Amino acid sequence: MTISATVDYNALDDEAFRREVRTFVEAHYPQHLRYLQRRMRPAEISGWWRMLHEKGWIAPNWPREWGGMGLDAGKMVAYLEEMERFGVGRAPDQGITQVGPIVIKFGTQAQKEAYLPGTLSGEIIWCQGYSEPNAGSDLANLQTAAVPEGEHFVVNGQKIWTSLAHDATHIYLLVRTDREAKKQKGISFLLVDLKTPGITIRPIRNIAGHEEFCQVFFDNVRVPLDALVGKLNEGWTIAKALLGFERLNIGSPRRPQYALLRLEMLARAKGLLDDAGFLDRFTALKLDLEDLASLYSRYVEQVKRGEPLGPDVSSLKIWGMEAWQRLTDLLVEAGAEDGVIEGAHDVAGVEIDFLGPFYYARPSTIYGGSSEIQRNIISKYVLELPS
Ligand SMILES: Cc1cc2nc3c(=O)[nH]c(=O)nc-3n(C[C@H](O)[C@H](O)[C@H](O)COP(=O)(O)OP(=O)(O)OC[C@H]3O[C@@H](n4cnc5c(N)ncnc54)[C@H](O)[C@@H]3O)c2cc1C
Repeated sequence: MTISATVDYNALDDEAFRREVRTFVEAHYPQHLRYLQRRMRPAEISGWWRMLHEKGWIAPNWPREWGGMGLDAGKMVAYLEEMERFGVGRAPDQGITQVGPIVIKFGTQAQKEAYLPGTLSGEIIWCQGYSEPNAGSDLANLQTAAVPEGEHFVVNGQKIWTSLAHDATHIYLLVRTDREAKKQKGISFLLVDLKTPGITIRPIRNIAGHEEFCQVFFDNVRVPLDALVGKLNEGWTIAKALLGFERLNIGSPRRPQYALLRLEMLARAKGLLDDAGFLDRFTALKLDLEDLASLYSRYVEQVKRGEPLGPDVSSLKIWGMEAWQRLTDLLVEAGAEDGVIEGAHDVAGVEIDFLGPFYYARPSTIYGGSSEIQRNIISKYVLELPS
């Protein structure tokens, strides 16, 4: 645990804290990694990770006793906003955002000591093994099974779309441990070392040519019984316990705003703002983003007041991700013949990539709960329409 993790940042006022984050980020974050249109790999981000870790800033959401910053909601929002403002890319951070808080809340003391320090330092890199070929939106349908046998669970099955599994050292898994129970009731949560014999990882190349996610196969994988987090068959409750802040973060306007900046650069370089048809669509999208920003700040205020987010927060993800896609559609269209050719293009002296942002935005209406599923939530729990 680092010394600086003991600093109580909540004692600062929000603006002073924001200035401190801004100064640090501007001084240290690598320029060439700003506003990336893809997930970052551990090797390219390791220097920045080390710097944040040494400062005690790698885990703003963790309690200070486990090496986090223990930020209150207002400071947490300031921290994230400052990172976004400077275009800080997304590191392989599932250990910090997902599994760390789960281990802190539900893990044993031995699990905390075994996993938390390495997760902070970046020696342990986690990936999320939830989805399966027939269990995505309907996650509770998952079939990968863990059967207790002596001192071990024997795990068999397949996960898919596991982001950056080929860069990870460990995976947190949802597995079926009771086939007789009702779907959600027979699921458990395991922490697994990816070096365990019987695990095969196959990267999947996406349309942009990046290998960001993988298939992960489990063939008679023997996992110690103490890999279980919480109680047997209570993994569903554990996995769902996290959803609060994550749902706010996924609806942040930052990615659509980066896309708008690019579109505006292109429009100026090509003189498109004089074209009434283009200007009409551009202005409508700009207003969409204004709406998104004000919706986002409404939820931010709610979190700052310590109020839980309700099902209506689904509208943030729908609006944000769909506006992002519309922006990148227009970027490709406005690029004309260059718009469909991969890589960066020189447009009147300005370097612009058209397809990168377009591809990056495509899966956003699928991951983190698809738009259709978010609409179902609003229809059922907010509008109370008959299903
Ligand atoms: C970039 C990316 C990264 C990912 N990373 C991970 C990861 O690290 N770990 C992990 O476990 N998973 C990951 N996923 C998987 C993600 O969680 C699933 O893709 C998602 O849950 C949807 O599941 P699915 O792909 O099986 O689609 P399906 O659930 O089969 O859905 C197919 C289509 O049907 C629609 N649909 C499904 N059910 C309904 C319904 N009831 N009503 C209306 N429409 C419906 C969906 O909206 C979608 O359009 C990732 C996905 C992407 C795109």
